[in-house]
Amino acid sequence: IGALIADHARAHARARPDQPALVMGDERLSWAALDALMDRVAASLQRDGLRPGDALVLAGGMSPRLMAVFLGALRAGVVVAPLACSVTPAVFAAMRRDADPKRLFVDAQAEPLLAAEDQAACIALDGEAPGTPFERWLLPEGARPTPVAIRPEDPFNIIYSSGTTGTPKGIVQPHGMRWLHIQRGARYGYGPDTVTLLSTPLYSNTTLVVAFPTLAFGGTVNLQPKFDAGAWLAIAERERVTHAMLVPVPVQVRRLLGHPDFDRRDLSAFQVKFCTSAPFAAEVKAEVLRRWPGGLVEFYGMTEGGGTCILDAHLHPDKLHTVGRPAEGHDIRLIDEAGVELPPERCLTEGGEVVGRSGAMMAGYHGRPELTREAEWFSPEGLRFIRTGDIGRFDADGFLTLFDRRKDMIISGGFNLYPSDLEAELRRHPAVVEAAVVGVPSAEWGETPVAFVERRAGDPTTGAELRDWLNARVGKTQRLSELRFVDELPRSAIGKLLKRELRERWTGQS
Ligand code: ATP
Ligand code: MG
Repeated sequence: IGALIADHARAHARARPDQPALVMGDERLSWAALDALMDRVAASLQRDGLRPGDALVLAGGMSPRLMAVFLGALRAGVVVAPLACSVTPAVFAAMRRDADPKRLFVDAQAEPLLAAEDQAACIALDGEAPGTPFERWLLPEGARPTPVAIRPEDPFNIIYSSGTTGTPKGIVQPHGMRWLHIQRGARYGYGPDTVTLLSTPLYSNTTLVVAFPTLAFGGTVNLQPKFDAGAWLAIAERERVTHAMLVPVPVQVRRLLGHPDFDRRDLSAFQVKFCTSAPFAAEVKAEVLRRWPGGLVEFYGMTEGGGTCILDAHLHPDKLHTVGRPAEGHDIRLIDEAGVELPPERCLTEGGEVVGRSGAMMAGYHGRPELTREAEWFSPEGLRFIRTGDIGRFDADGFLTLFDRRKDMIISGGFNLYPSDLEAELRRHPAVVEAAVVGVPSAEWGETPVAFVERRAGDPTTGAELRDWLNARVGKTQRLSELRFVDELPRSAIGKLLKRELRERWTGQS
């Protein structure tokens, strides 16, 4: 299949050499310039002795240069592992060890996370980073790599999972999986006129599922390395942005809708806003549809691949409480706690763990065969599915509603209790900005729910009042033992609520 996106870049460079491929602020990298830079990167990696299947690490803030290294590496068949710099040194070291890179491309952000023995393998993307300066490392203009053959099953990149439920796992995504994501792009009108605005980091799959289709179809990716609502809206108007990924939800969406410029900016070029990765309240989706031109598309899936659900929200305004229907070619089923598939009628009435299968699945967790086996589920026909750990239910029209992650479900006095029900109820109270409910150990009930709440500034409601207000409105088995106010709920770098941290906080204090 060739190096796919890398081959496309060559074609785009011929067809429209001067059109920008990558933009960040005033910096514009045309297709011709990108193609040439990719060649030089690929040739330089080959000069260093990197062979197809070898890995390199990218650790730094988003920039056209970082993207160009990613794309150039693909041309040499080198596997890219983008790593987050917003993690603890221990987590960074664990990911770096796991990726086992031959080269590390780093900027100043990565500097404090690097080990002394890494320095020799580092290429410095900016003046403050350690290692060989990028310009010195790069072969001169005109360098060409030796072409490499790539098969669909060959690894494209390793993405580390968000670590929402534990230590990040290295997910090996093959070229074929990435290619299916790109093909899906045809549905969303990607083409040479596409301008996609991204303010998500490179190490998140949410960035790649939008950036690569945009580039494969010859469009332009505009990068905002650090999200800022006012500047984002200004870019969207000036650059006539057509597509965007709004992650984390609901954080970015709320900030944009709440910004004084929102209604003043011309957003009429928008075709699609994408969102994914965390629960997105139906009321907020409705507000996006009301106030923002163009479609709204929600993806539900995992970095591991398997099953993806898609909600074209603008086409199904009555299904905003769901995450949509299985994508074409995706087989999504529900299983019970014993791993037995729920028959269709029980899928409508009971929650089950979501398992999915498609052509776009990870090869496995990098170097963790036992974890890979735990993530797999085989159907009675012997087909391989990937377990999501999420609990959901289908409606009669085939739309999936999610409740919670299996690990977040609370079993109290023998009853299964879903934190999301209590959180939704809490959000109805005017004092509540955001709420998270977790199960904590209880001698009497096994587990019992407690709530952590971000309170609206200046609101006088007390924790006890709010707890009693909620307990009066829910079933007896759902009642909260305790409610605490917090300044800010703990979130991961891409904005996911970290419930394990709340549980740790609770057990640490009481
Ligand atoms: P880890 O596996 O390390 O704990 P993670 O599961 O958060 O991290 P990702 O692969 O980034 O890592 O996220 C996939 C998960 O995100 C899904 O299993 C689901 O819980 C959640 N998710 C994804 N899309 C949606 C969505 N549209 N609505 C609600 N939740 C979603
Ligand atoms: Mg996961």
